[in-house]
Amino acid sequence: MTEAPGAAVVPAGAPGRVARMITVSGRVQGVGFRPFVHRLATRLGLDGWVRNAAGRVEMVVAGPPMAVESMVGLVRTEAPRTADVRRVAVADPPGPPPPPGAGFTVRPSARTGTGRPEAREVPPDVAVCEACLRELFDPPDRRHRYPFVNCADCGPRATVVEDLPYDRERTVMRRFPLCAACASEYADPADRRFHAEPTACPACGPRLAWEGLTGDAALRAAEAVVAGGGIVAVKGLGGFQLVCDATDAGAVARLRARKRRPAKPF
Ligand SMILES: [Zn+2]
Ligand SMILES: [Zn+2]
Repeated sequence: MTEAPGAAVVPAGAPGRVARMITVSGRVQGVGFRPFVHRLATRLGLDGWVRNAAGRVEMVVAGPPMAVESMVGLVRTEAPRTADVRRVAVADPPGPPPPPGAGFTVRPSARTGTGRPEAREVPPDVAVCEACLRELFDPPDRRHRYPFVNCADCGPRATVVEDLPYDRERTVMRRFPLCAACASEYADPADRRFHAEPTACPACGPRLAWEGLTGDAALRAAEAVVAGGGIVAVKGLGGFQLVCDATDAGAVARLRARKRRPAKPF
């Protein structure tokens, strides 16, 4: 493998085409990398595929030499904001190159991949993005007021991941089979939730729960406890958030006592 596009032209099924295998290492799973690569390859008119493999992302791209070369650079320079690309390796593809017009696909993940195993980086949870926030507060949207809204750009990762490669089946979200609407978003390369592994909606995803209550009733029960000076532990991304009425001196004093934090700001 080399660190830059090699000089040798690989026959890629047609004159004037080259094919390369590009392996990207670093924090590249759970950060929307495969959807990003899919969009990029489609934009550049490249054929091929991308997949998660062990702790990295592997892809084979075929097309005009300039486009393939652009791809090698752009996987680093245009990577999703939560990715941390530390190494881009370029090599000849392991098998026959994708023929012209084959299109670009996301392949099932490989447990091992083609090279030596590398450090596996569990992606961090990412705060809700602007696009998801808009849906959250948009009454006609099917995720209006849905507290577990997320997409390929945001949402739980470390909180739900049990193993890599990063796929829904290796997260706790596998217990929530996707509804038809979510499944169609997940499979649509043009959708923000293309391969968004923890995607969920009110029809198929987790719901608010409070003892025997669910949904709005659960939320109202929690609100009543907070309004009454109580402290509620909200299970969220990365653990629990302790919630009380910040204007209620008694509630704040109880929270400080329980946290053994008499003065330091929360
Ligand atoms: Zn989002
Ligand atoms: Zn759904």
